[in-house]
Amino acid sequence: MPRFLRALDESITTLGGVGPAAKAGYAELGVETYSDLLLLAPRTWEDRSTITAVAAVHDGGMVNTIVEVLSHSWFGFKSAKKRTLKIIVRDVSGEGGGQLSLLCFGRNFLEKTIRVGRRYYLWAQVHMHRGEKQSSQFEAYPIGDDGSMPPQFGSILPIYPLRGSLTQRLIRANIKAVLDRIDHFIDELPPSITERHSLVTTDTAIRDYHAPASLAALEESRRTLAFGELFYLQLATRRRHGASEPISPTRAAPTKLELALIERLPFSLTGDQITALKEIRLDLAGVEPMNRLLQGDVGSGKTLVAWISALYALGSGAQVAFMAPTELLARQHAESAASLLADLGIRLAFLTGSVRNKERRLLLEAVREGEVDILIGTHALFSAEVVFKNLRYVIIDEQHRFGVEQRLALLAKATVPDLLLMTATPIPRTLSLTVFGNLNISTLKTMPAGRKPVVTHLVSEASRKRMYQAVGVEFSRGHQAYFVYPRIDDSGEDDVRDVTNMFEYLKEEYPLIPSALIHSRLDEEEKIAILRSYQQGELSYLVSTSVVEVGIDIPNATVMVIEHAERFGLSALHQLRGRVGRSDLQSYCFLVFSSQLTEEAKSRLTVLKNSNDGFYIAEQDLLIRGPGELSGVRQSGYLRLTFASLTEDLALIQLAREEADRILSSKDGLLGAEYEAIRSVLANAPPFDTEKSEA
Ligand code: ADP
Ligand code: MG
Repeated sequence: MPRFLRALDESITTLGGVGPAAKAGYAELGVETYSDLLLLAPRTWEDRSTITAVAAVHDGGMVNTIVEVLSHSWFGFKSAKKRTLKIIVRDVSGEGGGQLSLLCFGRNFLEKTIRVGRRYYLWAQVHMHRGEKQSSQFEAYPIGDDGSMPPQFGSILPIYPLRGSLTQRLIRANIKAVLDRIDHFIDELPPSITERHSLVTTDTAIRDYHAPASLAALEESRRTLAFGELFYLQLATRRRHGASEPISPTRAAPTKLELALIERLPFSLTGDQITALKEIRLDLAGVEPMNRLLQGDVGSGKTLVAWISALYALGSGAQVAFMAPTELLARQHAESAASLLADLGIRLAFLTGSVRNKERRLLLEAVREGEVDILIGTHALFSAEVVFKNLRYVIIDEQHRFGVEQRLALLAKATVPDLLLMTATPIPRTLSLTVFGNLNISTLKTMPAGRKPVVTHLVSEASRKRMYQAVGVEFSRGHQAYFVYPRIDDSGEDDVRDVTNMFEYLKEEYPLIPSALIHSRLDEEEKIAILRSYQQGELSYLVSTSVVEVGIDIPNATVMVIEHAERFGLSALHQLRGRVGRSDLQSYCFLVFSSQLTEEAKSRLTVLKNSNDGFYIAEQDLLIRGPGELSGVRQSGYLRLTFASLTEDLALIQLAREEADRILSSKDGLLGAEYEAIRSVLANAPPFDTEKSEA
């Protein structure tokens, strides 16, 4: 009977050799069913398809060849029990010859199976030892009397990830057994798409993937499986749920709730905030899901725009998810949301990894029942246990801190994912296009009224004392400060200041001035308590690692001291500096550098001294460090793409997008006759399940 690749529910315990130990190993890999097993991606493949003769191999390389056994000898101890067999073989592949010694540590039994005068297919890692080529890690398979080659010869062997008692041999055997039991896998893509992009069938693809006949076949199968995955991901993140009854554009006027909030603010919105809100409202009211990036420098007031827009979305009975990259920041947002929104009757909830047990159960229950309007949290919002009743709007703060896959995982939870990404760090255009569809952009250029640019000084050791005096003056004005160091404690590295020592040092510098130490090793509760008393003005300064880098919003803080500034990236420094200058008070940033600073490092810091413009700084940072750090793309565990890579398959992502577009914008959409295959995959075994949240 033909089967869907992702609907093989049979337990792996029905397979030979899978007892409790192997079952546990498999469980660690997330493998419980036949489907899981077939979707277990090899870490790599060993290419045994071309001969590498002994003569051609380098130290540490692999030979893949045919040998004849010349002799057996023994070395090591004289006693028969402790000696080790050494088998001398000669390369007879005809590709260059060469002689090799196989050292059979613990495998003296090979004396019986690898016999003098016979021929073997050999796969071995070779080391040079005193001019002799040796191998202690090898596999040898006899060649038949009639010259028939063992099946391992010329193959491309998948190497699977291993856990517990699992072995390659067992996994390979189990996969083969499953593939043998299923006579045909149902095609996941319609023939028109398969043809257009020269893909193979799902059946061929999954069989070749685990046992490819050639590297070309392997790539063909991987490409097919990756395309399928990306295609369904595109469908999952775009498909509108239900009929899309057009909503009249007048709905894009601010709602009562919004106006109530705006009226209560102690300041007026900036022009850019108002414009951004208009753009977002129109998107939210429109038929297409919103896909918008809200960019603006640190302190430009992005978060407020997000909350106001959330009120707009709530008006239509939706739920909103607001996600921040750290627990500290998420909690700060939750608190500011509480003070802004709670007496408007908005039901807020806060979810992070540290919300546990009964509290968590009740909270998740409330989210599922639709009793929570806005759920604020960290990436905990992605986890499979979080099921929304009607999630329609997702806001992601500091989006560059999340992997693309994390964002997609959250989107896959919502059937109509209106998405607002917020960032102070621009993302590369190509990436935003391919992964997110067409991103629209709103920009906050103007800073809130009354803001003064932060005055930035570069401070050498010689002026350290004067800096402390200047900070002291700010304390006497009732203002607050941050002192940031790169390390938590003394790492033994010369001359690098750490928070633990400097905390003591600063106590002497500023006797009687209350302070606290904060770093990533404190538990969340402690960090939160410290931040709260800082916020309430009970502490005058924090001695910190860069945990305060992201988003912390304490308007009364006017001094940021960063030591060993040369050790931080420019964007990180800019973010840190953005912790001050958040009110109409004049603020200062001191970048303290080591005396041995190179000219280049100094000119980097000068970029910061001379500019308060985050986009310019990000550009300079990009020039200096290259794009890797900024793109925010890393393979993370939240959404497991099995076959595709978001970093390497950009072209394939583009194709998958085009196909999804073509179908969704066609007259009958997915209901078109030729899309039967897609409908049946979606109904029976979709790679990404987007309907769960409606269940
Ligand atoms: P961002 O996230 O863009 O770095 P925030 O949203 O945290 O900036 O805003 C920084 C600070 O400015 C917050 O304290 C916020 O309340 C305040 N703020 C936001 N908009 C305005 C405005 N229009 N006028 C004055 N202050 C504002
Ligand atoms: Mg922010």
